[in-house]
Amino acid sequence: MAAESPRLAVIGAGIAGLTAARLWQDRGLSVRLFDKGRNIGGRCATRRRDELAFDHGAPAIAATDGDFRWAMRRWMMGAALQRWLGSMQGFPEGLRLFTGTPDMNAIPVRLGAGLDIAQRVEVARIEREPDGGWHLHDADGTALGRFDAVLLTCPPAQAQRLLQPGLNAGWVEPGWFDRPVQMRAVWTVMAAFESRVASAHDAMALDGEPLEFALRNSSKPERTGGPESWVLHAAPDITEQFLEHPKEAVVDDFLAALAYHLDTSLPRVIFARAHRWLYARAEATDTPNPDGTATTEPSLFDPETGLGLAGDWLSPPASPFLGVQSAWLSGRHMGQRLRAWARSR
Ligand SMILES: Cc1cc2nc3c(=O)[nH]c(=O)nc-3n(C[C@H](O)[C@H](O)[C@H](O)COP(=O)(O)OP(=O)(O)OC[C@H]3O[C@@H](n4cnc5c(N)ncnc54)[C@H](O)[C@@H]3O)c2cc1C
Repeated sequence: MAAESPRLAVIGAGIAGLTAARLWQDRGLSVRLFDKGRNIGGRCATRRRDELAFDHGAPAIAATDGDFRWAMRRWMMGAALQRWLGSMQGFPEGLRLFTGTPDMNAIPVRLGAGLDIAQRVEVARIEREPDGGWHLHDADGTALGRFDAVLLTCPPAQAQRLLQPGLNAGWVEPGWFDRPVQMRAVWTVMAAFESRVASAHDAMALDGEPLEFALRNSSKPERTGGPESWVLHAAPDITEQFLEHPKEAVVDDFLAALAYHLDTSLPRVIFARAHRWLYARAEATDTPNPDGTATTEPSLFDPETGLGLAGDWLSPPASPFLGVQSAWLSGRHMGQRLRAWARSR
């Protein structure tokens, strides 16, 4: 591709960032992604420890959007996704859940194939130069390159922190962050057991309970050979009340909640950890935008500056199982806008 084609930087290699970057690169345009995580995928995450693997972020996905269904079909053809046919309790009637194979991280790995991704790199500063270009730096002040456009796909509090100088300097629309959406926190407990947990169900949605979801991770397709493993999600309300609770206490509390719900004692625990997601789920709120002017588009982009925002929070999901769909829709919307912008330059 011609060296003059615009260069895009994407901050965040979660589903939204990867989807937008893919569309851009498929047009032969140059893109570099930066992600502070050990793995790509953001909240579409799998924690591995020896022979254990837990989907400790999004455990499964569902679809209501026709285009997203086609994306899922492609992932299925690429062996990165399968229907989860485990026994479900408490989920909405007719809900079809799908899960990454051999783990949830397979979905972002497939989306990210062939993309230039700098992992374990946290972008700490963004500067707009008088020539119109963008300069990115990490926390040590190391320059990460000059780009013609920058896309931020991190949760809104993190994007806002990064863009604070720009808000003050006027190169970011303040209304961009006036969205009727709230990011909710979730404690997740990962546990492996010496033998099978006595539960008739593999996935339980416990509406109104502190333990909101209890999921037999090892019942998902292609999780063969490992020990019995579960992932437990606390409800956001209780998580936010106990944000600073010690991790060991969170593990004990939620294993006790599982035993209580199943009315049984649990087998010997061979591994257990808690993980706190501060920005786990985007939830729409009823609060209208303060001035009623903020857009509800699933991505935001300023063609003058080449600055954009994408992520699940811009198109908040109608249910907890639709977060990945929201992120994908936002990333695709942004990718299409960016392509139109590149054509018009
Ligand atoms: C516990 C839990 C349960 C969930 N359950 C479901 C479910 O059942 N079904 C479903 O569909 N969805 C579920 N979700 C939500 C789903 O995971 C998200 O909606 C989706 O993955 C969001 O993708 P994203 O690309 O918008 O953001 P993210 O995945 O958050 O990606 C943002 C990326 O930006 C990176 N980043 C942030 N700041 C910087 C920086 N300064 N420099 C470099 N990199 C940076 C992060 O490392 C991250 O990789 C769940 C999430 C959690 C945590």
